[in-house]
Amino acid sequence: MTVQPLKKRPLSRYLKDFKHTQTHCAQCAKLLDRITLTRGGEIVSKTAIAQLDTLIDENGWQVERQSWAALCRFCGDLYCKEQEHYFDIIGFKEYLFEQTEMSHGTIREYVVRLRRLGNHLASQNIPAPSTPEAWLDDAFEAWLPLTSTNNYRIALRKYGQFQILNKNSAAHFQENKSTSDIY
Ligand SMILES: [Zn+2]
Repeated sequence: MTVQPLKKRPLSRYLKDFKHTQTHCAQCAKLLDRITLTRGGEIVSKTAIAQLDTLIDENGWQVERQSWAALCRFCGDLYCKEQEHYFDIIGFKEYLFEQTEMSHGTIREYVVRLRRLGNHLASQNIPAPSTPEAWLDDAFEAWLPLTSTNNYRIALRKYGQFQILNKNSAAHFQENKSTSDIY
């Protein structure tokens, strides 16, 4: 048997196959319905993918594929578009996933509400409070949207609990010098 050089194919073809083999979101492990592909944390559109015509062989693809991930639409938006947000949306989502028993659907509800509220507050130039406890008092009452007000209030309260927990665990780590190095 002679060793044949590895066959080269355009990157877009590998990505097409890659997309078909991904069944669960790389971030939240949800079964994938609409898939968002990312490269190095940035969303790459279908059109852009179709234009990736660099010829690579299987070895090249094995290296390249480490930069790619398949995300559900929700996580794609969350991780790639929400970096500059009024609220710490990603931290909040992770808190709900890890520290509460909420279902995926409920978490999504909370996150969507908080994103809307963040856009609403940011558009009115309302400053974020300086202490986590302030999220729980009525400081925002006057600024809440007039529709679904109570839903926003509930989301805000949950966010306040997350912020307080965050602050307490940060304080805990600062007291403990042996673990402070990793922060
Ligand atoms: Zn996801």
